[in-house]
Amino acid sequence: MRDANQLVGMTLGELAKHIAPGISTLQLDKIAEEFIRDHGAVPAFLGYGGFPNSICASVNEQVVHGIPSSKMILKEGDVVSIDCGTILNEFVGDSAYTFCVGDVSPEVKTLLRTTKEALYRGIQAAVAGKRIGDISNAVQTYCESKGYSVVRELVGHGIGKKMHEEPEVPNYGRRGCGPLLKSGMCICIEPMINMGSKNVVFERDGWTVRTKDRKCSAHFEHCIAIHPEGSEILSSFKFLEEVLGDNAI
Ligand code: MG
Ligand code: MG
Repeated sequence: MRDANQLVGMTLGELAKHIAPGISTLQLDKIAEEFIRDHGAVPAFLGYGGFPNSICASVNEQVVHGIPSSKMILKEGDVVSIDCGTILNEFVGDSAYTFCVGDVSPEVKTLLRTTKEALYRGIQAAVAGKRIGDISNAVQTYCESKGYSVVRELVGHGIGKKMHEEPEVPNYGRRGCGPLLKSGMCICIEPMINMGSKNVVFERDGWTVRTKDRKCSAHFEHCIAIHPEGSEILSSFKFLEEVLGDNAI
């Protein structure tokens, strides 16, 4: 699980070198697919439920599951959420990061920072003996205290030899509720946080989810393992942060 997730982190790092005004999300998809295959792995998203590509690339008001396209060309001031998965030695890795394209407004940067911080607050709450609702509540409480809203229709998940396993890991919920967190579990925590209302629309392409009010949305995801003494982050933003340097949010 660690190896598959580290490879996702490395792939996000490779993409970070290329995310700039003028590149299309389909070009990013090809870079990711080649990088994953060059490392002896298979893109987990390609063909999953019929998904046509190796990454999800969701721009601005798109929340998740954006289909890479030659027509979706990134421009200055955009944000793009890249969700990436790998299958390596039969295990699945899954992680996501919302990147700035060039110079992004302070308001949008604050949304991104808040969503990333919410992810880490969720991870801190992920302790053996606690419950999924403790994670959910940590994410929700923090984001709503900043005036943002939490998408309800999509949730985090257990992960292992399959990308989506039990239990569901919602980004909203009540402390002390839900399935028990046990040592040895691997889960993905992935806050999807909107600047405006929580409502989303499913586009007619069958995949893309966007905000109903067309305001910006952010998405950060780590895969973690629950240990007796706490949790271990299996995926990594280290590689992309090395590329972005001082420009990392
Ligand atoms: Mg993901
Ligand atoms: Mg996931």
